[in-house]
Amino acid sequence: MSRTILHVDMDSYFASVEQQANPNLRGKPVVVTGKPTIKSVVAAASREAKKCGVESAMATWKARRKCPDLILVPGDPDRYEWLTNNFFDILRTYSPKLEPFGVDEAFLDVTARVRDYRSPVNLVKRIKEDVEEEFGNWITCSVGIARNKLLAKLASDMEKPDGVTRIRDDDVSDVLKEMSLTDLCGIGSRTEKRLNRLGINSVPELGDFSEKELKEEFGIDGARLKLMGQGKDPSPVLPASYEEEVKSVGNSLTLPEYKRTSRKALPVLFKLAQKVGYRLRKKELMAGTLKLMVRDGEFNVEGKQLTPGRYVDDGNLIYSFALEIKEELGFPATPTMVGIRASKLRSKGSFSQPLLPDRRKREELLRVMDEVNEEYGKGTLYFAAQTGAEDLLPSVGEFKRPGDLN
Ligand SMILES: [Mg+2]
Repeated sequence: MSRTILHVDMDSYFASVEQQANPNLRGKPVVVTGKPTIKSVVAAASREAKKCGVESAMATWKARRKCPDLILVPGDPDRYEWLTNNFFDILRTYSPKLEPFGVDEAFLDVTARVRDYRSPVNLVKRIKEDVEEEFGNWITCSVGIARNKLLAKLASDMEKPDGVTRIRDDDVSDVLKEMSLTDLCGIGSRTEKRLNRLGINSVPELGDFSEKELKEEFGIDGARLKLMGQGKDPSPVLPASYEEEVKSVGNSLTLPEYKRTSRKALPVLFKLAQKVGYRLRKKELMAGTLKLMVRDGEFNVEGKQLTPGRYVDDGNLIYSFALEIKEELGFPATPTMVGIRASKLRSKGSFSQPLLPDRRKREELLRVMDEVNEEYGKGTLYFAAQTGAEDLLPSVGEFKRPGDLN
């Protein structure tokens, strides 16, 4: 059965994100760099900077020479991590068959869904609307639609930025005639040189070449190369491990009489947050959405949720987000029950290692605490804030939101 595969690629990713976050940068040549030093390189260039010839991986001094007005912006890994995760989540609402390809690209097999939208182009329109709604109109993506990953990837590159390109089966051979060998994902300049030595200088020549000779030169990859030359790619879209069975992790507690004030409920909330964090870590899950529930009197349960902008399994962070919700929700004068529920769960294995040393240390600390508590009994080690120093509580926990994407 023929498939419908999308390749969705964010345009000028980090740079667009910075322009979205800071309107003063819009329409200007911007590059995102590591630490702003003389030796730094361009991690991403805005479309305006690209027009002056600035490219990724170029030394910033060189980029400056090409574009004297260039604005250097230090990268914000938290912000990108948040965006990437949310970008993939948007795509997953269209199909669970999502294969991330780097931080700002993914393949999506929408074969089963395409009928609902009458055409793949309609489906892509919806994705683009969702991306705009979630992130703002400065962050766009280009999408390729085709029968397989190879062609979808080729297509997404044909019209940038903000493009939609569909390669239909009848057009494949015409499209391939226009492409150079290195336009095919998987053929770099070294492979190209080896192909040239065999007398192969174009994509159709590769498709027509003897498979036997290709295998002699490239071993097992020879067959795949020949297929590539014909625009064929049988490889499936492989989803990253994705946790679906456990939908949410939550804890709630009915407050004893003497704790039924907003102030006295806070340490209880803190403790619940630690509990939820611990349970997430035990299941090796991270939560993307948190919900705070409060009962006022017998029946009135109020709840509100927040998608904090990053995935969490740290009780202190969960607590600080719960406090943020509490501010918004308003707290009853006499709460009788409080609860926290974490949802939008994702297996921890599907995230990259934390980039920041502080966050790595924090993870290590939590791991050791969990181990001690398992070995010597619950509550052997706990954060001092839990002892009831309510006044300290609102400042507990690292709190940083990528936020202000307007
Ligand atoms: Mg991109």
